[in-house]
Amino acid sequence: MQAKPALVTNLLCLSLLAACGIKQASPSTPIRARILSSQDGVYSLRDVNFSTLVNVEHMQGSLGTILGHASASVDADPSEIIAASNPDGLYRKRGQTVHLDYIVKNGTVIPQSFASMEMLGLYYNFERTVMFWQEQLGLDFTSIGLPRLFYNPSLSRSKNGQEEKISEVMNAAYLSGIKDLWFYQTSPREKIPVKMNFGIVAHEFGHYIFDYAFAKFEPAAYETNLLSNSELLSGMNEGIADFFSYMVAGNAKEFAKSLPELEAERSLPVSWTLSTLRSAACEGGHYCRGSILASALYEISQSPGQSAIAVGKNVLANLPYFQHRWESEAMDELVDESLLLTPLLTSEGVDKSLYCKVFLKWFDTKSLQSNLPCNT
Ligand SMILES: [Zn+2]
Repeated sequence: MQAKPALVTNLLCLSLLAACGIKQASPSTPIRARILSSQDGVYSLRDVNFSTLVNVEHMQGSLGTILGHASASVDADPSEIIAASNPDGLYRKRGQTVHLDYIVKNGTVIPQSFASMEMLGLYYNFERTVMFWQEQLGLDFTSIGLPRLFYNPSLSRSKNGQEEKISEVMNAAYLSGIKDLWFYQTSPREKIPVKMNFGIVAHEFGHYIFDYAFAKFEPAAYETNLLSNSELLSGMNEGIADFFSYMVAGNAKEFAKSLPELEAERSLPVSWTLSTLRSAACEGGHYCRGSILASALYEISQSPGQSAIAVGKNVLANLPYFQHRWESEAMDELVDESLLLTPLLTSEGVDKSLYCKVFLKWFDTKSLQSNLPCNT
């Protein structure tokens, strides 16, 4: 009988403590957190400030919410998934709010699990990327909209009437049809988790910008009846996303921080040109040709009087015109990069002789050169 009141008191204390704990643990905005983050290509544990994160427990902010526990069935091939326009057909679970495990020390959020650190890192990189486009290139995302962020979506396909789990098929992906960004489960191969890599998050967002500026988010805008045109466009999309990633993250060797094997194939500039592409030690398929475009844009941005932002603005401004040419020329006829290179080098105010010199160097085949309005 004596024990009863004591037990009740203990329970009360516990619940009071818990309540006090939660109160203490709600950080004030702007939220500051200790995470592994990149500054000029160097990753270290840093205290960083978030400008748009409002609720750290559920990773909600004015740029969006990180969604976890989504699952998708991916019976179709990857290109169909990426272009899928019906989320109901793709998602079996649409994703839920996440719960972060953290403590607050002297006003700084300290994540208490690997997943919590990853989600903070993902949001931080996303925020830095979106704000860069907003502030440096003047894009207004309140009218354009933003993609949704999926943390570790689980994928499965049906095999012999049974659902079979697929481990990761890609490390990160932008799904153009439904405008979602997927960041897959981290594999032990990643030195820095892909979702914490500023360059990779900026690259995926680069595809979103391409989808907006080139396609106005219309899957039909990419259409062609020729497989090699479709490969060419995929490569150009990759190359432009790589250049945009460099522009935003300020480092041309950022991907290799996560996956060292990408150093030779994706760090800018690459070691091959269009004429040596076939014999190049590059196994990335259409990425290898895309890297030539990325390298050319990179070289222009490094020239005196130029900057990555100036080149990025020129690309952004000419993507709608590129689409226009794509629509009228690429459906049944073989095309090449000149569909974009020509508007880039004839744009008002650009240094045409510099653009010509660099494009002729990287796209060094007679047939492509003859399509450029440069004196060859
Ligand atoms: Zn990509």
